Amino acid sequence: MTVPFWPLFAVDVGGSLAMIALSFLCLGTATHLRRADPESLLRIYLFWVCVGLAGFSLSRAAGHIARQGLLLAGREDLWAALRPYSSAVNTLLFVALAAVTLFFERVWKATERIARDRLALRRARAELLEVNRELERLAGDRARALAFSERQYRRIFEVARDPILVLDPEGTIREINPAGAKLLGGGEEAADRLRGAPLVRFLARPGAWREIGAAIERRGFVQNVELELRRADGVLLPVLASAVRDRESGGEGAAVHLIARDIEERRRLQEQMAQADRLASIGQLSAGVAHEINNPLGVILGYTQLLLRGEAPGSERHRDLKTIEKHVRHCKAIVEDLLKFARRSEPKQEKVDIHRTIEEVLHFFGQNAAGGRIRLESDFDRRIPEVVVDEKKIKQVLLNLLMNARHAVGGEGTIRVVTRWLEEEGKLAVAVEDDGCGIEDKDLPHIFDPFFTTKPTGEGTGLGLSVSYGIVRRHGGEIRVESRPGKGSVFTVVLPAAGAPPEEET
Ligand code: ADP
Repeated sequence: MTVPFWPLFAVDVGGSLAMIALSFLCLGTATHLRRADPESLLRIYLFWVCVGLAGFSLSRAAGHIARQGLLLAGREDLWAALRPYSSAVNTLLFVALAAVTLFFERVWKATERIARDRLALRRARAELLEVNRELERLAGDRARALAFSERQYRRIFEVARDPILVLDPEGTIREINPAGAKLLGGGEEAADRLRGAPLVRFLARPGAWREIGAAIERRGFVQNVELELRRADGVLLPVLASAVRDRESGGEGAAVHLIARDIEERRRLQEQMAQADRLASIGQLSAGVAHEINNPLGVILGYTQLLLRGEAPGSERHRDLKTIEKHVRHCKAIVEDLLKFARRSEPKQEKVDIHRTIEEVLHFFGQNAAGGRIRLESDFDRRIPEVVVDEKKIKQVLLNLLMNARHAVGGEGTIRVVTRWLEEEGKLAVAVEDDGCGIEDKDLPHIFDPFFTTKPTGEGTGLGLSVSYGIVRRHGGEIRVESRPGKGSVFTVVLPAAGAPPEEET
């Protein structure tokens, strides 16, 4: 038996054990690292190097420990037999470890490439995310813009005062705005009921839709076609219709958009203008005629009065001449009214106390025209300051109104003259009220027309109110009428206290 050199023995056995322990510690660390990132090629590589190292350490340390044991046991022969095997295993393990080490550069490059690819991938992903976000933002913006424009067009459709309809090519109503629903259905809530109804139901002339449809087919649109629509209450309303074909209406196929404008007001104005034109020509003509016959009438009156002087009162000739005189005077009154109506003199501007003016007129009226059974009352607002008017003309207006009131009450009734000061407007109101026959509704729109009269022939010229109206207008004022047939009327003259405004004078 060979006695071992103990220091070397201790280093060999202890070192071998330490080698095993350290290599397995390395393997443990490498295993842990690989688990943490199983896709890391470098960590996989490190793991396999550690496996090789641990195998080599185990084999080599086992060989050395076995050798020391066998030598200590005096079995050198057995060690001699085992030694080549131990060396062979060591060599193989070392070769394997070396081979793994040879791959290091490739593994390193592959790892680098993978890292680069991974980085590029991460960047591409970030870019993709950014593009995606941008797309989402754009889509959001578009959706908002679309919603805004949709809301805007909806509002136009809803608040338009003219009826707007969306029809299918056969003329069935698909959509109708509140103005249209109000016109055709009597209320904005009728829109639901009207959807699906044929437009021809609301046309005074059902053939009109066929003509519009044909024109739209030919040209794609129609403009300002005159139609008559039947309103919910059955009244026919003239409208100007414009329609256009829309080949693709929000996915519902072709449609016709129609807008109708109420032209009743325009027609009424046109008629009024024509009427005003007619009146102006009548005015001119009658002024000419009045002028021509005024002088002969004067001559007839003069001669009649001359002849009367030579006749004994009560004789038949005297009575006949009186009749002629009466009628000539009546003719002259008409002619003078006509001339007043045609004359357009500017009002004089003088400061007057309106109540004094009214009292003078009332005094004259009471003395000469009112008759015994007509009560005359007055109610004056004493706050009215002095006003600037043409006193003679205003007296003429008041007398006219009083005469009409007297005629309205007939033999018996009450006539009141009321004044009011309209502080805020700086205007005064003079109302002539009566409890007479009142004015029929059908007559009310015409009472200011020249020659309009309901009085029997010979009693009225129909010029009193139109002359009065002209005078008051030239003062910058107006005449308002309220009347109830059978109950009485109120004619209110409203005048600016400061005189006619300049534009009225022109
Ligand atoms: P005239 O008095 O010559 O008929 P006017 O122009 O003064 O002409 O009046 C026109 C018409 O207005 C009258 O014929 C009458 O029908 C109506 N009218 C005017 N004033 C009154 C009134 N106070 N009450 C009832 N009807 C009136």
